Amino acid sequence: MTDTPNPHAEPWQWPEPTWRNIVGRARAGRSLAPTAWPGGARCAVAISFDADHETIPLRDSDESPMRISQGQYGNRRAMPRILKLLDREAIPASFFYPAVSALLHPEEVRRVAAAGHEIGIHSWIHEANTKLPPGAERDLTFRAADTLESLTGTRPVGMRTASWDFSVDTLDIIRELGLLYDSSLMADDDAYELEADGKPTGVVELPPEWIRDDAVYWNFVRFSGLRPYTPPSSVLEIFKSEFDGAYAEGGMFLLTLHPHISGHRSRLPVLEQLIAHIKATGPCWFATHADIARYCKENAAEPSA
Ligand SMILES: [Zn+2]
Repeated sequence: MTDTPNPHAEPWQWPEPTWRNIVGRARAGRSLAPTAWPGGARCAVAISFDADHETIPLRDSDESPMRISQGQYGNRRAMPRILKLLDREAIPASFFYPAVSALLHPEEVRRVAAAGHEIGIHSWIHEANTKLPPGAERDLTFRAADTLESLTGTRPVGMRTASWDFSVDTLDIIRELGLLYDSSLMADDDAYELEADGKPTGVVELPPEWIRDDAVYWNFVRFSGLRPYTPPSSVLEIFKSEFDGAYAEGGMFLLTLHPHISGHRSRLPVLEQLIAHIKATGPCWFATHADIARYCKENAAEPSA
């Protein structure tokens, strides 16, 4: 039986091993939800920023100065605001950088790292992994890791695939790189261990979700029908409800924001008000993805097999 589907066969013709193989490639295994969070916290709060900046139009081979300028806004106005807010609130966060974005803004990356935030891998130029020719994803991911390490002096321990476009090769690349965690897949609300073909990998998955992503609500593309101008108050309501659920269950609240999207004058107050709501609700552990992944791996309630 072949491992990959016969391209000439329709899914309804696939033999059982074919569809079992497909779902088993990067599957949620054991839950890594801990019995308790550090310091008596009721909930872990993982705030992340995907610092894509100019790489979105570059990825699309779009040389439009207008779209490039939207990306530059992320570096020029959004990042200083975001770093000021995080500093004022004393909150550590995780920043995922495409290597090209980091090379365009090395001072920003160094400033983020110096402020105690985590720098994670986020592709080379925001390429879509599932559209790459064989071998390119591995090469680009390794080069991205090397680039971030050379800029900050620290080897990244975590990765978020660009657009959460985790390919059938991504898990092998993560394992070869020896990463602690990934944050792209969505099989749970809380941390879990990734399995490959039914076998535990030791790789922690910190699941994001489109519900907790600002791009879904605000990302506008001029020459397409994509114009979701959601009122900031509605976005705040959704994020608050997601947090309230995580707090009630003693779980993890993971938020994904983009500087060039959320850093605007009308939108960053959403994060500010969300943080105020979280702090007013009860004891929470604000931590980087790396610290949460490490803690979950060491303190999972469910024993390893
Ligand atoms: Zn991104």
